[in-house]
This record gives sequence, C-alpha cells and structure tokens, in this order.
Amino acid sequence: MEIKKGIAVSPGVAIGPAFLLDAEGLQVRERFIAPGSYPRELERLENALRAAADDARREQARVAEKMGTQYAAIFAAHAMMIEDPGFRQEIQSLIRDQGYTAEYAVSRVVRRRIKKLESLEDAYLAARSSDLLDLQRRILRHLVGEQTGGLGQLSHPIVLLAHDLTPSQTAQLDRQKVRAFATEAGGRASHTAIMAGVLEIPAVVGLGRFLADVSPGDLVIVDGNRGLLILDPDEETREAYERTRKSFVSLEKSLLEEKDLPAVTRDGVRVLVFGNIEFPAEAAHCVERGAEGVGLYRTEFLYLDKKEDPSESEHFEAYLQVVRVMGSRPVVIRTLDLGADKFSGVVNPATQERNPFLGVRSIRLCLRNLSLFKTQIRAILRASAFGDVRLMFPMISTLMELRQAKMILADVMDDLQEQGIAFNRQIPVGTMIEVPSAAIMAPELAREVSFFSIGTNDLIQYVLAADRTNENVADLYNAGDPAILRLLDYVIKAAQQAGVEVNVCGEMSGEPLYTMLLIGLGIRQLSVAPQNIPEIKRIIRSITVEEARRVAQEALELDNARDIKNLLRDRARRVIPEFFD
Ligand code: PEP
Ligand code: MG
Repeated sequence: MEIKKGIAVSPGVAIGPAFLLDAEGLQVRERFIAPGSYPRELERLENALRAAADDARREQARVAEKMGTQYAAIFAAHAMMIEDPGFRQEIQSLIRDQGYTAEYAVSRVVRRRIKKLESLEDAYLAARSSDLLDLQRRILRHLVGEQTGGLGQLSHPIVLLAHDLTPSQTAQLDRQKVRAFATEAGGRASHTAIMAGVLEIPAVVGLGRFLADVSPGDLVIVDGNRGLLILDPDEETREAYERTRKSFVSLEKSLLEEKDLPAVTRDGVRVLVFGNIEFPAEAAHCVERGAEGVGLYRTEFLYLDKKEDPSESEHFEAYLQVVRVMGSRPVVIRTLDLGADKFSGVVNPATQERNPFLGVRSIRLCLRNLSLFKTQIRAILRASAFGDVRLMFPMISTLMELRQAKMILADVMDDLQEQGIAFNRQIPVGTMIEVPSAAIMAPELAREVSFFSIGTNDLIQYVLAADRTNENVADLYNAGDPAILRLLDYVIKAAQQAGVEVNVCGEMSGEPLYTMLLIGLGIRQLSVAPQNIPEIKRIIRSITVEEARRVAQEALELDNARDIKNLLRDRARRVIPEFFD
C-alpha cells in the first residue's frame, strides 16, 4: 500500500479500479495481453508503426517546403528510426515472449534506448533522448487512437488518474462512471478543481508524479476530504474507507434535510447564501441545495466545445433558463471572464501570451472586442426583463476600466431602448474585486457600483504571486495568509462605509474553515458551489456574530497563515465538530 498526499479540491471518498491518462492525455492500457492474442497485438503494432512513419515523412515534406531541407532532416530521421528493423524486432519479441501490450512494449524499448544514450555521458547524444520520446509519442498516438482513449465509452465505474485535466475535459466527465479523479498537476482554485466540485466528483490534485507507480485496473482510493490517493490499499484501509464513505453519505443526507432553513446566526443575524454556477442546468442544483439566488454565473462556460462566439440568442436562452428556474431570486450574471485557464484557445488561438494570467483576459479582452462584449450585454439586459438579474464585471483593475465598461453598458441600453426592447434600466451593476489594485481602490470603486463580489481565487494568486493552477506553489497560495485577511478587512470596510453590498464568491467562501472569519469580518452574503450550500448554512446557524467577530479580530492580529488556520480550526471545531473531526 502507498499513500500520496495532494490538494483536496472536491469532498467525498471513492474506491475503484484505476483508469490512466498520461501527460499527453492518452489512455494508458494494461501491461499484458490475454495469452495467445499476440498475433493481433503484432498487427496493431505494425499498423501504428506504418502510420507513425507516414506522419513523420509528411511532416518532413511540409517543413522542407516551408523552411528548407536542413530543418526537415529531423523528421526524416524519425521515420528512419521507426522503420529500423532492429527497433521493430525488439518490440515484437517483447510482445511475443513477454505477453506485453504493444503500448507497453514500445515504451519499454524506447526507455531502454534512452538509458543507453544517457549512459554515454555525451551531451549531444543525451539530448537525442528527447527525439526518442517524440518518436514514442508519435507511435503511441496511433496505438491509442483518440486523445482521451476510452473515457467516453466506459462500461463500468472507474477512478480516473491523470497527469492533468483541462476544465473542458473535466466538465465532460460522466459522474455515473467516473467515481473520483486524482491528478499529478493542478492547484486549489484551478477551473478543473472548481468543475470537480460542480460535478460532485471527489477529487485530489497536485499530487506530483505517481502515474508510473500504478497500472490500469489496480484498486485505488481517492480521499477528497483529506487530499489523499491510496494505491493498492490493504484490507483494513479498505474497510475503514468504506465506513468513512457511508458516514459521509449520511452527513450529506442530514444536511440536505435542513437545506431550506434560513442561514440565521444564533444571535439573529441573517446571512444570504447564494450558489455559483457555470451551466444553466446547475440553477436547479442551487434550488435543490437551498440557495437564495445565483451569486455568480460564470458565463464563459458557454464556450465549452465551441469554435465560434455564441450568438446573442444563445446567450439569452441560457440566461433566461437560469432566471426561470430561480423565479424571483437574484441572479448575478458575470460578463465573460475568458482567457488564462478558461478557454483561451477559443478566443485567441493566434496569440500565445507568455503570461496569460497577466495578459488580455476577461474584461480586458471584452473591452478590445466590443462586438463580443455588446452581444453579451444585450442578452443580459434582455434577460433582466424576466427576473431579478444583476450584472457584474470581472477582473476590473482600474477605475477607468470600470467606467469604460459602464459606458458600453449605457450605449447598449440606448440601443435597446431605441429598438423598443424591454429591459431593466435600474439593473444593479457590480464589480468583482479580484485584482490587488481593485482592492486598494475599493473606496473609489464603491462609489460607482451597487455591489462588490470578492473573487478570492484570483485575489489570492495575484496578492501572493502564486499561480492558482500550479501545484508547486500551492503552499504559498493560501487563503489564510495574513495579507489576504488584511485586504479582505479593508475591502469590506470600504464597502460598508459606501453602503454597497459585499459578497465573497471565490472557493474560500465555501470552505467551512473560513466561514466564521468571513462573518466576523462583516460579510453577510456568500456565494459558494451548490454542493457546499447546506454545509455553510449549518455553520452559520451554529455560530453567533459576536464570537465570529472575536475570532476575526484574533486572526487579524496573527502574522502567519499557519497560526491563523490553527486558530480558525480550533474555534470552528468547538462549534461544528462534525466538519472538523
Ligand atoms: C475568483 O477569482 O475568485 C472568482 C470567483 O472567479 P473565477 O474563479 O471564475 O476566476
Ligand atoms: Mg476570478
């Protein structure tokens, strides 16, 4: 048995057979074939070698024409290596004599050759090992076929283990078949992690290298509560986890029974708990979990699986669907937050930014692409005629940017009015506070909007200069950092002084550890992933504002994240032990 520690991003526990995707997104197949089936395996190998050599020659011709023959030589060398009889025979004998699958035999032979090259201690030859890896990729692609292998056609439930998953891959996972997933890469607030929560699939990310230690079909446990991946669990561990799984299910059930009770603290203060959604269908999840509205609708997910911008009517239909489900409850629609880790390939396929999180993403992209921006605003305004729709701008980093966005909104309103199209001219307009400059300018921004929504996912990454998707800086990316607490305190006070509503909608707002702190800092609205709503409501019903204020004051006096989190855990454990023991 082996236990790996990563970052818990979606709660729950699952036990099942491993299904592997490697760093290329290719399915890793079992290592052995059924006895006697090697002729078919040899044929698969033959076809893949031929197709891979053809590919290399085609690439050779293409590059030669574009850049000259000397640049194309490397592809000719690839083709020759693939066609080398010695290479082929070595793979064939592993299939025939050892019963290996073609995939495994190819990677064994390539690895052997790389080892030989590296042992020569010649820098030039050692660098050739990357050519061999390229070659392996070429052949495996033909053996495995489509990118994500058989993930689309699973016949039984599995636990997905991958190097990394994109938000789109995650969004397309079948919850009935994928019991849990664990990845080598990824950070706490990546969109892959957020999607796992949305789909309610237990997940652990940022585990570091582990794929080489597992074989397809091995029994594994993913513990999404504690961030663990357990390979080859022993009998005792399996039984213990089976018990944990059952008690988790019964806690969920008891939470759901009280989901419609309002979130009122023991000393009578009402807190509003909203849901975060990505897809219109999730509005129903929010209602089922007792949400008082949608506090954040991430509209960029309209781009999932799309090669073109959605039309005005596609936007409108999606918004109307949400508004209809929510009835009179508020729905905060955020304008497109595209770029960085969210569908940047669709928007800007031509420009590869060196630093996409600091580049033309989100509102910056919309302000440079007015037709895209106006199309969406028209749809949001049209939907505002049917319910309590509110409009929010993401990634605002300067006052001028907010003013520019509001001017475009005013233009679109004039157009709609001229055309006699109904909308709510008094639509509440808010801004995300997720860039440090916006937090610092909160008093000024507060004069120009009717609400703030603090996006801690981005705010933490920008304040601490720690990429939210990078597991190597996950220890720095910390919601409990004193710099974050002080900034939150500052923004909340600025909002209170200006009389604008303030909400927190980053993942921090759905983490039980931080609920007392946020209430103590003055937050009276939280927007969380739908599956967290009942839990957060129960915490609010278990505390008093008085004690939350004391906890927040104590936390603000500490100077490091470890002490802050210990304090918060200790205080929370006293009032809601069921979430911390
Ligand atoms: C945030 O940054 O906290 C936020 C809610 O926005 P997103 O996660 O969509 O970037
Ligand atoms: Mg954000």
